[in-house]
Amino acid sequence: MKLHMVDLIGQYNKIKDEIDGAVLETIASSAYINGPQVSSFSKNLANYHGVRHVIPCANGTDALQIALMALDLKRGDEIIVPAFTYVATAEVIALLGLTPIMVDVDPDHFNLTGELFEKAITPRTKAVVPVHLFGQAAEMEDIMKIASKYDIYVIEDNAQAIGANYQFSDGSVKKAGTIGHIGTTSFFPAKNLGCFGDGGAIFTNDDQLAQKMSMIANHGQTERYYHGMVGVNSRLDSIQAAILDVKLKYLDEYAAARNDAASIYDDAFREISVIQTPHRNPQSSHVFHQYTIRVKEGKREALRKYLTDENIPHNIYYPVPLYEQEAFKHLSGAVEFLPVTDMLCKEVLSLPIHTEMNQEILSYITQKINNFFN
Ligand SMILES: *Cc1c(COP(=O)(O)O)cnc(C)c1O
Repeated sequence: MKLHMVDLIGQYNKIKDEIDGAVLETIASSAYINGPQVSSFSKNLANYHGVRHVIPCANGTDALQIALMALDLKRGDEIIVPAFTYVATAEVIALLGLTPIMVDVDPDHFNLTGELFEKAITPRTKAVVPVHLFGQAAEMEDIMKIASKYDIYVIEDNAQAIGANYQFSDGSVKKAGTIGHIGTTSFFPAKNLGCFGDGGAIFTNDDQLAQKMSMIANHGQTERYYHGMVGVNSRLDSIQAAILDVKLKYLDEYAAARNDAASIYDDAFREISVIQTPHRNPQSSHVFHQYTIRVKEGKREALRKYLTDENIPHNIYYPVPLYEQEAFKHLSGAVEFLPVTDMLCKEVLSLPIHTEMNQEILSYITQKINNFFN
């Protein structure tokens, strides 16, 4: 049986006619940059999210960088980030001469909490970047309360949880990525809403920030050939936007398919005490960008070897805490040992999850894993 971490071909084949049509139409129009597909997709994405502004850009890393550039931060200002995340989250902070302050995460949800955030605040803290890791939102209600108390900007890194719903204690619901001052996402092919190349977007309800971020993404341009500030060149291609506009219609269906697969995994591993299946944050829905288990009692490496031998795809997101990465070792404040992050890097294991999972694939994988533990 041929297994994949993500089955992009299977997904494409189901909507091939629609995608091909949209791509060919864009090619025939020759509006390759900033074509009508880009504004159409941005509008539809804003409607889907219930957010005032969507600023499309070239990738999720740029989205984070542009968001930070819009906040008038100074060299040495501190930005709080979870240490258990993809490198991009901290990389852009360092790149802009700001100081990433890496903090620990919750051992069950793998995300930043209000408590961990508040402990790391100093007079130099200017922003926090909660990451909605693996597909569910961090504790945004607590994080927003604390951020407002200390007057700190919140940029949600929503590269992995696009479409997740977050419910506040008053019953109101917002989409992940629209809760903080700014939210960012990525359309990297393997993300939950993936294009056929690179892409990203920024969300905000703040009109001034929106205007500034659009300007930054377009060379700091105020009007054609007049540049009010130093910006970057970060665009979403029209062809990618056309593809994304088609795929956006299926995003909720895709999340449902991922959840079905996750429940089957959960049930199959219930009796295996060494495996901790993904906890669900009661305030957030989960869109299962990854299905990530913790393999306890030091058994991960043995399971990993077994899965490799059995040709079952798997991955470790992430094997090394950010503060131990060569690139960040020199940063002051980045060297502290964080026990949960350290433990997670040794225990997590992500199994195949995508929109084309079926009973046969799931039975095969879960039986093999059960065999290993019995
Ligand atoms: C993928 C990802 C990014 C970066 O997105 P790119 O489009 O690859 O630049 C940033 N943060 C997180 C958490 C991601 O998973």
